[in-house]
Amino acid sequence: MEPSGQRLTLRGIVQGVGFRPFVLRLARECGVSGRVWNHAAGVTIEAFANALALATFTRRLRTEAPPGARIDDLNSEAMAGTAPAAFTIEPSAAAAERVVSIPPDLAVCDDCLKEIADPAARRYRYPFTNCTACGPRFTIARDVPWDRSATTMAGFAMCDACRAEYEDPRDRRFHAQPIACPECGPRLRLVDAGGHPLAEGDAALRAAARALRAGGIVAVKGLGGFHLACDATFAPAVARLRERKRREQKPFAVMVRDLATVALHAVLREEERALLRSPARPVVLVERRHDSRLAPGVAPDNPLVGLLLAYTPLHHLLLEAAQRPLVMTSANLSEEPLCWRDDEARERLRGLADLFLDHDREIVAPCDDSVARCIAGAPTLLRRARGHVPGALPVARPFARPVLACGALLKNTFCVGAGDAAHLGPHVGDLENVATLDAYEAAIERALRFLRVTPEVVAHDLHPEYASTRYALARPEPLKVAVQHHHAHVAALMAEHGLEDRLLGLAWDGTGYGTDGTAWGGEFLLVGADGSCERIATFRPLAMAGGDRAVREVWRLALALVEDAFDGAPPTAALALFDAVPRHDLHVVRQMLASDLNTPRARGVGRYFDAFGALGLVRARSSYEGEVALLWNVAADPAEPGRYPFHLENRRVPWEIDLRLAVRAAVRDLMDGRGAPTVSARFHRTLVAAAEEVVRLAARHHGRTPVGLTGGCFQNPLLAEGLLAALGGFDVRLHREVPPGDGGLALGQAVVADAVARKSL
Ligand code: ZN
Ligand code: ZN
Ligand code: FE
Repeated sequence: MEPSGQRLTLRGIVQGVGFRPFVLRLARECGVSGRVWNHAAGVTIEAFANALALATFTRRLRTEAPPGARIDDLNSEAMAGTAPAAFTIEPSAAAAERVVSIPPDLAVCDDCLKEIADPAARRYRYPFTNCTACGPRFTIARDVPWDRSATTMAGFAMCDACRAEYEDPRDRRFHAQPIACPECGPRLRLVDAGGHPLAEGDAALRAAARALRAGGIVAVKGLGGFHLACDATFAPAVARLRERKRREQKPFAVMVRDLATVALHAVLREEERALLRSPARPVVLVERRHDSRLAPGVAPDNPLVGLLLAYTPLHHLLLEAAQRPLVMTSANLSEEPLCWRDDEARERLRGLADLFLDHDREIVAPCDDSVARCIAGAPTLLRRARGHVPGALPVARPFARPVLACGALLKNTFCVGAGDAAHLGPHVGDLENVATLDAYEAAIERALRFLRVTPEVVAHDLHPEYASTRYALARPEPLKVAVQHHHAHVAALMAEHGLEDRLLGLAWDGTGYGTDGTAWGGEFLLVGADGSCERIATFRPLAMAGGDRAVREVWRLALALVEDAFDGAPPTAALALFDAVPRHDLHVVRQMLASDLNTPRARGVGRYFDAFGALGLVRARSSYEGEVALLWNVAADPAEPGRYPFHLENRRVPWEIDLRLAVRAAVRDLMDGRGAPTVSARFHRTLVAAAEEVVRLAARHHGRTPVGLTGGCFQNPLLAEGLLAALGGFDVRLHREVPPGDGGLALGQAVVADAVARKSL
C-alpha cells in the first residue's frame, strides 16, 4: 500500500499535558511519519502511513491520550505531499501559543511517584517532582504562553541533567516547564509560628510529620494555596482546628494516601473509586464506614465524609511519614478567602497553625480543591476549581461578542465567554468580605489577560445588593445585562448539554432574586436558547420572620411552616423543636408572622428543607447556611416508600405547589413517634411527586421538552435520582461538569447575556 497523508487537528486540553511526546511515541509505534506542532487553537499532526496504520494511529490518539488531556474535537482531512522519513516535533512559534495554552494543574502521575520512591533515582523523595503529564500549571503561571520563563519557576536555573531531559523529545520531561530536581529546584522548609526557620528539605518534612503525629496543626503549602492539616483520627486535634478556624460544624476534607486507605474509611462504589483517582483528584463525598477511625468531629452528625487522594509528591511524602489520614482544609478563617502568598500566610494564619511547611515555589493564583459527588451513578462537580480551571467548556453557539459574567454572591465563580468556549473561573467563595472581593477582582483581571479577551458585554445577577452586581455595574463596558438567578441556573445546564432549543428547568435552591423583587428558589422555568424565560410554576412561599436571620435560625422557618399549615393554630406544644426555643422568642416571632412585620416571603425549596429538617431533626439553628437542609437530606431512609399529600394550584400562572397538606401529615407522623429517616424520605418523595405532576402538566400545556434539574438542591442525590425515576419517559438532564449550585451560575449568565445582546447588534 502507498502511504497517504492526513492532517489531524485536535482541540481541547492538548497543551501542557505531555501531548506532543505522546504523539511522537505513538507515531513511532504505529509506523507513522510526519510532524506535530502546537498552535493557538490546539495541536496539528501531519501523518503519513498506509491506511490501516493511519486508522490505528488516529484511534489510539483518542484512547491512549495522557491522563490530563481531553480531546474535544478531532478533525481529519486528507493531504497531499511526500512522506518524510521520520516523525518529528516541530517547534511552535511562541506567539501562536495563546488562548488554549495554560492547562489546569495536574495530580502527580504514577511514573513520578515511582521515581520518588526509588532510592537510586535522582529525584528520590523530592517533593517537587513533575513531568509533562503532571504538576503545577495554572497556579504558577504569571502570563501566557505556557513557558517556564512566564512561571514562578523562572528564577530556578535548570541544572545540566534537567536541561538534557527538557530538550530530549523522547523524554517524558520534554518541555515540562516546571521541571525540577533536588539539585536545581524548589526546597521545603519548616518555619515556626514566629517565622523562625526550623529545618529544610527532607528534615523539614519529617519534622512536620512528627508534629502532626503529636496532634499539632501544620499549615502546608500545596498547589493552589495553604491547607491546615492535622491528624484526622485524633479528636482533640480536630476539635482544636475547629476552634481556631472558628468553624463549628462544616465538614473538613480528609486526605489519604491511596484507595486502599480510602476503603478503610468509606463504602465505595466503582464510580466513586474512579472519581477519586481522576486527574483532578477532587474531594469526593462518600459514605463513611461505621468502623472508620476518623474522628467524628471531621464531619459532625454527617454520614458522609469528603475524602481526597494525595495529589502532589509533597502530600504523598507527608502522608507516608505521618502514617495517618490528615484533615486538609483550606487555610483561612471561616468566611475569609484561601491563603496563598507566603508573607500573607504567616500573617493571617498566626494563631491558626503551630508550624508552616513552606517552600520557595511561589503560587501566583489561588485555587481551592475541587469537590465532587456521584449522583445517579455519574460524577457531578459541586465545586469547580483545582484540576478543572481554566479548562474551556465548549458552547454550541459561539459568543457573538466577548462576555464577562460576574456570578452570584455565595460560592462565586465568574465566567469569560468568547468564540466557541466559556471559561469558568476558580471558586472564589463568598463575596461578603473585602479580602474575597479583592481576590475575585484579581482573578477576573488575570483571566481576561490570559485569555486575551476584552469583554464587550457584562452579565450580572438581578440582585441589586450583590457585591458581584455592584462590581459589574462599576465596570467600564457600556453593555450590561441583568440575568435572573434561576434563569441563569437553567441556562447553565442548557449550555453544558449544548441544548439549542427549549428546556423545562427545575431551578431549586435556597434563594435568588426574582423579577418581582421577592426571593425565588422553587422555580419551573421554560427557557429558550434565544434568551427567553417563562415561569411555569413555583412553590407556595414561606414567611421568613426576621429576613435572613431565618436562614441560620431555622426554627423560625419551621414555625412559619406550621403556622401556615394549621391556620394559625399549630400544635407547637407537641413538637420537640419548639421546646428548645425560648418562650419569649417564640412569642415574638409569632407576633411577627401574624402582623407580617419584617417577614419577607421566600419560595426556595432549600427553605422547605430547612423548615422540615428543623422539625424532624429537632435542630433550632444551622451553624452554616444549608446545614439543616443537608442533614435532612442525609437523614432519609431510601427504602421508605411513603409520601405525603400536596395540592397543585393551577388556576393561575405561575402554578403553585402547596405543601400545607404535607406539613400536616408530617407533623402527625412526628407526633406519632415516627423518626426522621421515615419523615425525611416521605418529604423527599412528596417533592418528587409534586414536581412530576408539574412536569407532566407542563408538557400537555407547552409541548414536551427535555427537563433539567439545576440549583443547589440537586446536589442532593435522593431528589435527583427520585426525579429521574419518576420522569422515566422524559429526557432528563443533570449537571456533570458545571456545578448545580451557584458555582455554575456564571456560565448561564454568560449565555443569556449573549442571547440578549445579539438582539441589540
Ligand atoms: Zn509525572
Ligand atoms: Zn535539576
Ligand atoms: Fe442559586
